[in-house]
Amino acid sequence: MDISITRTSSPTTDERLAEILANPGFGVHFTDHMFTVEWTPVDGWHGARVTPYGPLTLDPATAVLHYAQEIFEGMKAYRHDDGSVWTFRPEANAERMVRSSGRLALPVLPVEDFVQAVDAIVEVDQRWVPDAAGEKSLYLRPFMIATEKFLGVRPARHVTFMVICSPAGAYFSKGIKPISLWLSTDYTRAGRGGMGAAKTGGNYASSLVAQQEATAQGCDQVVFLDAQEGTYVEELGGMNMYFVYSDGHIVTPEVGTILEGITRSSIIELAGKLGHQVEERKFSIEEWRDGVTSGDIVEVFACGTAAVVTPVGQLRWHGGQAGAADGEAGELTMRIRQALVDIQYGRADDTFGWMHRVC
Ligand SMILES: *Cc1c(COP(=O)(O)O)cnc(C)c1O
Repeated sequence: MDISITRTSSPTTDERLAEILANPGFGVHFTDHMFTVEWTPVDGWHGARVTPYGPLTLDPATAVLHYAQEIFEGMKAYRHDDGSVWTFRPEANAERMVRSSGRLALPVLPVEDFVQAVDAIVEVDQRWVPDAAGEKSLYLRPFMIATEKFLGVRPARHVTFMVICSPAGAYFSKGIKPISLWLSTDYTRAGRGGMGAAKTGGNYASSLVAQQEATAQGCDQVVFLDAQEGTYVEELGGMNMYFVYSDGHIVTPEVGTILEGITRSSIIELAGKLGHQVEERKFSIEEWRDGVTSGDIVEVFACGTAAVVTPVGQLRWHGGQAGAADGEAGELTMRIRQALVDIQYGRADDTFGWMHRVC
């Protein structure tokens, strides 16, 4: 892919950038540039470019605004102590986007083009990658939208893929404390044959009201059960789940209707290397309640790119609860988290070959 690069004539000043990177928050500041490439059936992918960051002009009839033909990815660029900049398993994000595009009837962006696009924008905006101290990173948001001006219902014949970047602070700014989960019984996130395994905005749109309910119940996040039987644990709105047993084995819900997290699959490999047997299987809500109550389950955690690994404390539902609200993060939870973070920031040997150097 040939990428043309047009740099902004008014880059963010060093002073302003330092101010932003000192306290970036999440998803509120954006870098000076963005990546764009467009697709039509006749020309395929064309017009790859890095340009100054700015608003899009979209016709009100643009398909994505009406029928949500959209997919996205979430990943990070990390600065190592020697100043170099790296991404974590970018091919895995690219491959997942290929799978998502299959489900949403969007065109396939080849894996090597995806990785090249991400490399290009990160290299141009590399001064936006924060120093490694305090687990800061540059969050990368590749996304693909139906940009044809057309209100009929069929796959769009004009599609746009973009990458934007946003500096991110540490997810846990005040130490790592277990979160509480609300068990949603009124809402599900995905049914059989649905979009659960695709990373698409629609899944998030449908999870918002359940998250609202969780917040109203005083919980941090919502956890969804399977749509068919209302029995098996699926995942949170945007994180996969893990259960650690007292004998050291670990269970994580099997794939199918859940989103296949790259953090999830990395933890399967990592935990295996640490000597823990990992089972991917159906995991019922009764097993969770009973296991926590009996002490068979000793740690519960959730994982995803944003938080890496988040310990889970209490599970609550209408009329009941399991687990302690005031507990501490589990020992294995923290060991796995540290092992992953150390690889990402280049402080541990990358024995799995997960890191990809950008510049
Ligand atoms: C992105 C996402 C995850 C986490 O995936 P990672 O690749 O680990 O960041 C989990 N669940 C949902 C619904 C997601 O969209």
